[in-house]
Amino acid sequence: MTVKNEENEGNFNTEEAEYSDLYPSRKKSQNKVSTWFDKITFNKERESYQKLRCEINVFQCMKNSPLMKLLLGALKSSGCEVELGRHISCEVCDEVVTGGYDPETNQIIICQNTANSRNRVHSTLSHEMIHMFDYCRNKLDLQNLNHLACTEIRAANQCHCSFLGAWIQGTASPFNIKKAHQNCVIDKAVRSVIAITNISKEEATEAVMQVFNKCYNDLEPIGRRLRRNSLDMEKAYYDGMYYGYIN
Ligand SMILES: [Zn+2]
Repeated sequence: MTVKNEENEGNFNTEEAEYSDLYPSRKKSQNKVSTWFDKITFNKERESYQKLRCEINVFQCMKNSPLMKLLLGALKSSGCEVELGRHISCEVCDEVVTGGYDPETNQIIICQNTANSRNRVHSTLSHEMIHMFDYCRNKLDLQNLNHLACTEIRAANQCHCSFLGAWIQGTASPFNIKKAHQNCVIDKAVRSVIAITNISKEEATEAVMQVFNKCYNDLEPIGRRLRRNSLDMEKAYYDGMYYGYIN
């Protein structure tokens, strides 16, 4: 569920990555009062500016990105229509993540403080919408470790690793690109599982590997691994029409 903030690679501390810690705005009993520190440092103003910028980025992604339109169409045709105001929320999060999916409220969280560019909002949104799709259509149970591993594999596979391109991470040549892509997906999924569950790296890797083949090859609803600087996103969008995802 969690999209990790790549800028904070070194600071990542799984001990602190409890769900309620990652998304402080979600703490149920929270009743935030402005402190004198907030007032003199313009924290409130900064937060409302970040929120507005985040909401504009979300709106622009939804309106202009063929991938977003495909995912929105797939959700709608599966009976889970997305309303921006109801299902997507810009919030302040822990610095280690850029977004998350909260199944309790069926909401995607975009972290207004860390997902601070249109590209970051786009990649976070697409990742979280795969979880939303799995929750809607595949009866995702996030308490089940195999389910969680599977949806993280699918999100990394179809979004994060495709867009980054494994070659950018400096490990791949044209000869081992497939292996590098798989390694990217495993690595990303393991990190996400650890961030959410707080289990050890060994346990998370075992859970990911148990379901890897099945979930890596399940490319619904995008239908292909999207490559950077290609027309894949547009092709997937037009294919979506044939599957009834787009009217
Ligand atoms: Zn995730």
